[in-house]
Amino acid sequence: MRIIRTSGEMQQTALTLRAAGRRIGLVPTMGFLHAGHLSLVRLARARSDAVILSLFVNPTQFGPREDLGSYPRDFARDAALCREADVDILFAPEAAKMYAPDASVYVTEEHLAAGLCGAARPGHFRGVCTVVAKLFNLCLPHVAVFGAKDAQQLRVIRRMTRDLNFPVEIVAGPTVREADGLALSSRNSYLSADERRQAPVLRRALDEAERLYRAGTRDAAALRNALQGIIAQAPAARIDYIAVVDDETLAPVQTLTKPALVALAVYIGTTRLIDNTVLQA
Ligand code: AMP
Repeated sequence: MRIIRTSGEMQQTALTLRAAGRRIGLVPTMGFLHAGHLSLVRLARARSDAVILSLFVNPTQFGPREDLGSYPRDFARDAALCREADVDILFAPEAAKMYAPDASVYVTEEHLAAGLCGAARPGHFRGVCTVVAKLFNLCLPHVAVFGAKDAQQLRVIRRMTRDLNFPVEIVAGPTVREADGLALSSRNSYLSADERRQAPVLRRALDEAERLYRAGTRDAAALRNALQGIIAQAPAARIDYIAVVDDETLAPVQTLTKPALVALAVYIGTTRLIDNTVLQA
């Protein structure tokens, strides 16, 4: 496995791979890798012959009061996991090498990014879109794989790819979970033992939404109330948002007639966790 630290070397390498007719698969991550990330590597591997995993804790997608400084990092462990997972190139640029000091061009998605995490984290998706556009230009992937856990991110990236005509196929990987239902996340490492015991409440709430939907509930307010009731059972939980939105437009829905995304952001103690499910007949 090759480790690349600069954008210049990354782009040159990608150009060489393309000239040799190789199909490039990209898995963008912020590191502190877990089985969710590695499942995306397998999807990329199946669709390409050179897999690049990017590891970059992107400063532009963090708000001023967010966890950029404390975000978990373990490069040696991540590199070992990438080697085991048969990653061809680990692209781990330094922040100073990714953005010019006077960088002044950003990519904004103006519709899908407005609500949910976009409302709770102003500027977040501008940072995400900008870094993903840069990664596309540096790694020149034919296919890029993103996790369904970050539901809004996936939809925003698909829209950016379509609207800016990036020649990249976007593939979604299903959410990988712990045995008790908690979605794997690098941020789970922030949880105390007691918080970790309470954290599966997100999945339990989504299970209840799925159960109610199968039983015929189509009223979004009724679904939200049920989710709220379940999350309130966990003393460490504080709801950031519970959203029931159209799966395509991400506009709030009152009555479910089309596939709907149920998305949660919940603080467990001081750790903000997200999870989601899609309800469709
Ligand atoms: P992150 O390192 O958290 O920015 O995530 C990098 C990629 O991994 C994103 O596309 C995430 O959606 C995806 N991802 C994160 N957690 C999971 C999970 N539990 N299952 C599947 N994909 C995930």
